[in-house]
Amino acid sequence: MKVLQVSAEIFPLIKTGGLADVAAALPVALNAAGGDTRLLLPGFAPIMADLRASKVLAVLAAPWGERLVVRRGHLASLDLLAYVIDRPELYCRPGTPYEDLQHQPFADNYRRFALLGWVASRLASGLDSDWRPQVVHSHDWHAALASAYVAFLPVQNVHVASVYTVHNLAYDGLFAPRHFFELGLPPGAFSVDGLEFHGQMSFMKAGLYFSDHITTVSPSYALEIQTPEDGYGMDGLLRLRANALTGILNGVDESVWDPARDPAISDPFDAHNTEGKRRCKAWLRQELGLAVQNDAPLFGIVSRITEQKGLHLVLNVLDELLAQGGQLVMMGEGDPEMEAAFRQRALASPQAVSVHIGYNERFAHRIFAATDVTLVPSSFEPCGLTQLYGLKYGSLPLVHHVGGLADTVVDCTLEDLANETANGFVFYRFDAQGLRRAMSRAFALYARKAEWRAVRKRAMSQPLGWDKAAAQYVNLYRKLCPEPFQN
Ligand code: ADP
Repeated sequence: MKVLQVSAEIFPLIKTGGLADVAAALPVALNAAGGDTRLLLPGFAPIMADLRASKVLAVLAAPWGERLVVRRGHLASLDLLAYVIDRPELYCRPGTPYEDLQHQPFADNYRRFALLGWVASRLASGLDSDWRPQVVHSHDWHAALASAYVAFLPVQNVHVASVYTVHNLAYDGLFAPRHFFELGLPPGAFSVDGLEFHGQMSFMKAGLYFSDHITTVSPSYALEIQTPEDGYGMDGLLRLRANALTGILNGVDESVWDPARDPAISDPFDAHNTEGKRRCKAWLRQELGLAVQNDAPLFGIVSRITEQKGLHLVLNVLDELLAQGGQLVMMGEGDPEMEAAFRQRALASPQAVSVHIGYNERFAHRIFAATDVTLVPSSFEPCGLTQLYGLKYGSLPLVHHVGGLADTVVDCTLEDLANETANGFVFYRFDAQGLRRAMSRAFALYARKAEWRAVRKRAMSQPLGWDKAAAQYVNLYRKLCPEPFQN
């Protein structure tokens, strides 16, 4: 099955969140399952630098006239074939992939990312005479226009199926309607039955409306986004499309996240021998200047700092966490006020709280390896990867019961301890009291060493790899493309 994966981010080259991890792991898992998967990516500088043996496939004029080059090459860090849009004026800029150094979205983001979708549709209509996708699978609003462009390909084209995955409905790619006519879509596409959203142009809605199938990254989130509370105004459309909407839980890329062979951590360990984990914890506490109390549970956070992540609840319960003898190491960046509040707490209790504002992939691995509990108190969470990394590294996740967190973490209640399904701590009401009580359960279990070890071993032994998700995507692609396909 020939599948073109279209994404703005890809680990380890360009990453702002879980999207990049998925974009890197899914193609590899699909190929391992016998697929023929290629990528389409914007030519951000790290992507251009990683591209080997690249050839110019085509020189094109975008719908608004801008000249661009499409290259085909080999992404060295992932060992995957990729098409890259080579247009440094659009993609090689200081800042994040989406914002300038002042955290302002680039004014021409609608062009930068429309181009991703438009080039995907050109590949779908045979731009590369050697390889033509049966499925164009785009991810998040940045790539969502692919489904609209594919839907409007001339009818003489062989049908190419479009799949769109929502990694986070909260980021919708909304732009002023005046830009619509630059994008080369037929005028009818700008309507309620199309990508118009309350007078604006919504890339997210283009993906939701025009795709043959929509997926999102957990079964619970697939249901939640059909409700007015979590639907960001798209819930009506999502309910209409419920039969073409599936939740497929993300996996863990075990070539990157495996404590038994992780070069970022000081001592390897696995479910059967956690001595290395004990040493990782000792090293990290020593390095960070945390007091060495042998029986203190160490809590960890690795997170973007946004309202979604519920970190204000952690600030609310931090005094109790410390009073019970716990310690906290957190790394994140985002909201400046929240960053300052965490910094302040570290200054006030340097032997118990260690705060790192910034982004550091290796340090993230070391936090999961060293900590006993991974805190993920998100108000909503499409899938969440950090709780999965916590499971894998024996850092039991403590989560709010929502989205993918609800689908992956089972609370240490007496009954779920007895039936051997518990693997973490869950709170149901999104408030400090809910978090406080789940935290108390974590302390209580930590005091019962044998039970703690049993739960941790179970968490670490859970199969979390990408093979299960890949099989579900392959089934979906097969349903959408039942006919044998000739290039
Ligand atoms: P989201 O995509 O909403 O940010 P996920 O849990 O799906 O949340 O994915 C977050 C990813 O980003 C994980 O791989 C996590 O380890 C990583 N991450 C988040 N913040 C940081 C940070 N400050 N430094 C390093 N990695 C981070």
